[in-house]
Amino acid sequence: MGTNNSRKKILAKQIYDALSTEFPGSKCSLDYDCPQNLAIRGILSAQCTDKRVNITASDLFARYPDMKSIAEEDPEVIAGIIKPCGLTASKTRSVISFARKMTEEWNGTVPDDVDLLMEVPGIGRKIANLIVGEVYGTPAVVVDTHCKRVMKRTGITESGDPAKVEKDIMAVFPEEQWISIGHLSVDLGRKYCTANSPKCEICPLGSFCRRRI
Ligand code: SF4
Repeated sequence: MGTNNSRKKILAKQIYDALSTEFPGSKCSLDYDCPQNLAIRGILSAQCTDKRVNITASDLFARYPDMKSIAEEDPEVIAGIIKPCGLTASKTRSVISFARKMTEEWNGTVPDDVDLLMEVPGIGRKIANLIVGEVYGTPAVVVDTHCKRVMKRTGITESGDPAKVEKDIMAVFPEEQWISIGHLSVDLGRKYCTANSPKCEICPLGSFCRRRI
């Protein structure tokens, strides 16, 4: 167990060094100018591209300058605006629920607390970790579909369960890398380690990735 963990820590360092060299400007791919906007964009991002989310969220925020105005709006109207992001009914409920929490319970401040954030339907662990990491710099690992795939293929985890993948990452990457390793693995997953046709021969992890060697 100890040896296995030491081996994985060496692998984690190789991965981090290679990815941070390959993607020096790696960052969150959702645009945001304030914490509440990031949370809403996170809600809209389920099964939707970041590009589409960024466009639709900008439309929403242009019409509603604050959370109070979203909380008080007719849900049908909100649904009409966010429809391009899909899953319209559940995302409408989530957006309005978040806006109400912000105005009625959280005094206008997005909490630095994963469990509190997860009280909002539609905010799961991934988005809650994204919010506390991005907004407050609280060490947290965002395990999305790219991160899950990369970590399994390289051998950091054997699991496909995001909560277990999160734990496996936290066990071998230093805390100060938890936020950035999420962003870096998204970059790798998009550019090289794609779901159906990974480009192993030109991948920056190719010399030590378990799947490649
Ligand atoms: S070598 Fe291949 S499987 Fe491994 S991380 Fe790179 S693209 Fe993915």
